[in-house]
Amino acid sequence: MEGHGRPARMVLAELGGSISRALARMSSATVVDESVLRECLNEIARALMQSDVRFKTVCDLQANIRKTVNLEALAAGTNKRRIIETSVGKELCKMLDTGKPAFVPKKGKPNVVMFVGLQGSGKTTTCTKYAHYHQRKGFKPSLVCADTFRAGAFDQLKQNATKAKIPFYGSYMESDPVKIAVEGLEKFRQEKSDLIIIDTSGRHMQEAALFEEMRQVAEATKPDLVIFVMDGSIGQAAFDQAQAFKQSASVGAVIVTKLDGHAKGGGALSAVAATKSPVIFIGTGEHIDDFDVFNVEPFVARLLGRGDLPGLIDKMESIVPADQQSELVAKLSEGAFTLRLLYEQFQNLLKMGPMSQIFSMLPGFSSELMPKGQEKQSKEKFKRYMTIMDSMTPAELDSTNPKLMTESRIIRVARGSGRKVKDVMEMLEEYKRLAKMWSKLNVSKLIPPNGKMSAQAIQKMLKVMPPQVVQQMGGKSGLEALLKQLGGGKDTSKMLAGMRGGA
Ligand code: GDP
Ligand code: MG
Repeated sequence: MEGHGRPARMVLAELGGSISRALARMSSATVVDESVLRECLNEIARALMQSDVRFKTVCDLQANIRKTVNLEALAAGTNKRRIIETSVGKELCKMLDTGKPAFVPKKGKPNVVMFVGLQGSGKTTTCTKYAHYHQRKGFKPSLVCADTFRAGAFDQLKQNATKAKIPFYGSYMESDPVKIAVEGLEKFRQEKSDLIIIDTSGRHMQEAALFEEMRQVAEATKPDLVIFVMDGSIGQAAFDQAQAFKQSASVGAVIVTKLDGHAKGGGALSAVAATKSPVIFIGTGEHIDDFDVFNVEPFVARLLGRGDLPGLIDKMESIVPADQQSELVAKLSEGAFTLRLLYEQFQNLLKMGPMSQIFSMLPGFSSELMPKGQEKQSKEKFKRYMTIMDSMTPAELDSTNPKLMTESRIIRVARGSGRKVKDVMEMLEEYKRLAKMWSKLNVSKLIPPNGKMSAQAIQKMLKVMPPQVVQQMGGKSGLEALLKQLGGGKDTSKMLAGMRGGA
C-alpha cells in the first residue's frame, strides 16, 4: 500500500479499529439506506485490503454481505444495523475459518509435536512460547533441538529453554537430525514428559533437502501434530508457502508469527485459512508471553470491537501463575487490598504485553482508547511505583491500615528509593483509591447465582484482573455493565452465536 501514500504499518488492532469505526459510523446515521450501507462496506473493504487481504476475497465478502442484507425486503422496524453487523461478522468468520479443529495435546499422554517452517520464520522462538504456554496450563513440556543445519541453533534453544525452565535435549556433535530427534524423544518419554516438542531446521522453500529432512524426522518420531510456523509479515505470499508445506508434511496446524505491527497480518491469516490449515496461535513479539491463542470467532469479535473475554481470561491465566490465582481472589474477596498485592498486579501487568492489546479484548473497548504515548507513560508509572514499594518494609507492604504510612515513614521511603516525597504520596493516593474501589466491589456478589459458564468466567476474570484494567473499565459500574452485557448465564460464545447467524 506504500504506493498509495498510506502508512505501511497497519497492525491488526488498527484493522479492527477501521472496521468497527465503519460500523459505528453506520450506526450513527439517522436512516440506514442503500448509500449508507455502500459506504460502510466500502470502508470495510478498504481496511481489509490495506491489511493485504486478497482483492478477490474482499469482493466475495462484500458480495456475500450484500446478498444477506436486502434493505428493501427488510420490514420497517427491523434492526438493519444489527443485521448488517451480524452479516459482517459472519462473513469475516467465514473468511478465516477452516472448519477443521486442530489436534489438542492431552495431559498425561506423551504428546509429540513437531515444528516446521522456513529459516527465520520464528520456529525456535515459537517452540519455547508453545512449551511455556502449556507449562502454565499444567503440562510437563520438553524441547528437542533437531536443527543441525544452522550453527548455534542448539545454543539458541538451550538459552530459551533454560530461561523458561523447560528441559531440553540436543547435541553439538551429532549431525543427524533424525538421530537427535529419536534420542530426545526416548529420553523425554522416560522422564514422563507429556508434551515433547521437536524443533527442526528451516531453509529456503526451494530446497528439496528441507522437505526431505522434515519428512524423515516426522517418519522417525511420528508426531501427533506438525505445526507449520509462518512469518506473518509476508502477507498474501503466505498462501503459496503454507500450501507447499502442507503438501510435503502432514501439517495439522499453523502458527503465524510477527503479527506485531505488520501491515500484512490480515493477508497472512486469510491466506492460511484458504489452505484449510487452522491457525492455533499467533506470535505478537519476541518475548515469551507475546503469544495468543487464535480462535476465529473471538478474533473477529475483537476486530469488531466486541471484545474477547475468554481470550482475556486465558491470557491472564497464562501470566498469573495458577498457585497465585486463588490466593489473589481470596484476598480481594476479603477486601484486603494491600500494597504488596498492588505490586504483584503491576508485575503481572508489565508481563502482559501491550495494554492496547488487552484493551482490544474487553467488550466495548478498542485499542484506540489507549493513546499511543499513554501506554509508555503508564508502564513507566508502574515501574516508578514499584521502585518506591521496593523501599518499603514487609509490614508496610502487607498492612491494610491506610494510616500506617506516617510522614516519617514516607520520608524514609522517598530517601530509600531516591524519589521525591511527592512521588511517594502520589503512589499512596493511587493505592488508596484502588483499595477503596476493591473494598466496595464485592467480588463474590458480582457473580450471578444462576450463571453457569459466565459466572465462572467472570470469577476467573476477577481473580486475575489487574486493578489498572478494572479501573480502565470504569470501576464497579463498568464491571456491572459488563455483567449485564454477558446476560447472566450466557457466555461470550453464545453472544457470538448471533454473529454466526444461528442464535
Ligand atoms: P527460526 O529460524 O524459524 O527458528 O526462527 P527464530 O525463532 O530463530 O526467530 C527468528 C527471529 O524472529 C528472531 O529474531 C526472533 O526473535 C524473531 N521472532 C520470532 N517470533 C516473533 C514474533 O512473533 N514477533 C517478532 N517481532 N519477532 C519474532
Ligand atoms: Mg531455529
